[in-house]
Amino acid sequence: MAVMTPPGIKVPGDYIESVMISVKAKNPAEPEFHQAVQEVLDSLKLVLKKHPEYQSAHLLERIVEPERVLMFRVPWFDDQGGIQVNRGFRIEMNSAIGPYKGGLRFHPSVNLGILKFLAFEQVFKNSLTTLPMGGGKGGSDFDPKGKSDSEVMRFCQSFMTELQRHIGPDTDVPAGDIGVGGREIGFLFGQYKRLRNEFTGVLTGKGLGWGGSLIRPEATGYGCVYFADEMLKTRKDKLEGKLCLVSGSGNVSQYTIEKLLDFGAKPVTVSDSNGVIYDPDGIDREKLAWVMDLKNVKRGRIRDYADKYKKAIFMPTDIKLDHNPLWNVKADCAFPSATQNEITAKDAANLLKNGIKLVAEGANMPSTLEATKLFLDAKILYGPAKAANAGGVATSGLEMSQNSARLSWTREEVDNRLHKIMIAIHQTCYETAEKYGTPGNLVNGANIGGFLKVANAMLDQGLV
Ligand code: NDP
Repeated sequence: MAVMTPPGIKVPGDYIESVMISVKAKNPAEPEFHQAVQEVLDSLKLVLKKHPEYQSAHLLERIVEPERVLMFRVPWFDDQGGIQVNRGFRIEMNSAIGPYKGGLRFHPSVNLGILKFLAFEQVFKNSLTTLPMGGGKGGSDFDPKGKSDSEVMRFCQSFMTELQRHIGPDTDVPAGDIGVGGREIGFLFGQYKRLRNEFTGVLTGKGLGWGGSLIRPEATGYGCVYFADEMLKTRKDKLEGKLCLVSGSGNVSQYTIEKLLDFGAKPVTVSDSNGVIYDPDGIDREKLAWVMDLKNVKRGRIRDYADKYKKAIFMPTDIKLDHNPLWNVKADCAFPSATQNEITAKDAANLLKNGIKLVAEGANMPSTLEATKLFLDAKILYGPAKAANAGGVATSGLEMSQNSARLSWTREEVDNRLHKIMIAIHQTCYETAEKYGTPGNLVNGANIGGFLKVANAMLDQGLV
């Protein structure tokens, strides 16, 4: 390692500071990666006090460094016969406890730093699921919005033509994320199978007729609501009757809303990058079905909701505003389910001012460090992403198990396992937070709980 613990440094805080300085110096212009690392390292101060062996093994310097970073050209023809070139990535972050596992994101904002933050988070999240999965993430700056199905297919085929040489069912198993749903996974799987001449569980989120698992599309949203239910139980409270804010209108948002309705809660918002819908009457099952058709079939914009349901209000995105109006709607619970840093300090202050009781993160790192601090200081129920949204990857793990055994479990069986995993993740976070002296702080609980298993595996496996 280039970075050694400077002589004389004994205090965990100083060691952590030196690692953070080095991460910033070695990974310039990657603010999201710095943020994700900072949050985990802050929690690990508590661990290093009890376990100096991690410091002597330079474990932190090793865990912040990806095992492998792949970056490649993705050329494809658009419908006019024009040549398009995108950039593809796969970050193979850590394989100490299993093959790399994590989604692919197709969005114009994708860059190396964003994927490294996601891959880093994934390592701890996957460890928390109790399943044997390492951490990875990938994607491209390709924007599926406004592209025809054939353009999306040609892009996916070109992307997989390069990626296929690096992945495999026992090596690295990608899944979906923003911009990558059932359609894209289908095209990616088809090209992998064609090039490798093998039918394996190399991707998760597959179609039901060709190796997919029941409940995988629902899993992240359902899991997040199960996690919220567990948090509320610790305060002898429940979701029934709660007013809930949900951001985004994609996969995670849709199934968060569905499960909230199962629990008798009342979701009142959805959004996309063009604006926010507030429906004071609540989004019921019929309206949810309409949103699913709009987003998954017609691939339309959420503003149309207000034309269809007249009592709903549409608030267009206004970059001059210093806050997101969605987080200024009075409610009991918030489920950020769109993207990173969508809750700023100002948004968190608005939520708290309006009496929010619970925040459960469906999206990855949706709260800034400042917003997270405000939630923790206010001692509301705060479920950080790497715990609250781990149901998606956990069910991907269940899909891998079914593929290996060449069988399919029923909907009830998968849902039951998902529910039990979410209960177990909550328990790990809750008990770990208490054990390390910060009861109720599930950020510390998740970071430490996820870290220990990976760190011990790394110690066992020597300097690799
Ligand atoms: P989708 O692509 O299905 O939906 C994303 C939603 O978020 C869309 O409504 C999209 O609006 C909105 N959105 C995305 N980027 C932005 C942005 N920069 N500003 C405003 N709105 C935005 O993705 P998913 O639902 O799968 O993913 C949502 C979040 O959940 C992500 O953070 C993802 O990493 C996380 N997650 C997903 C998992 C999964 O299983 N799918 C698992 C764990 C976490 P628009 O259409 O206008 O872009």
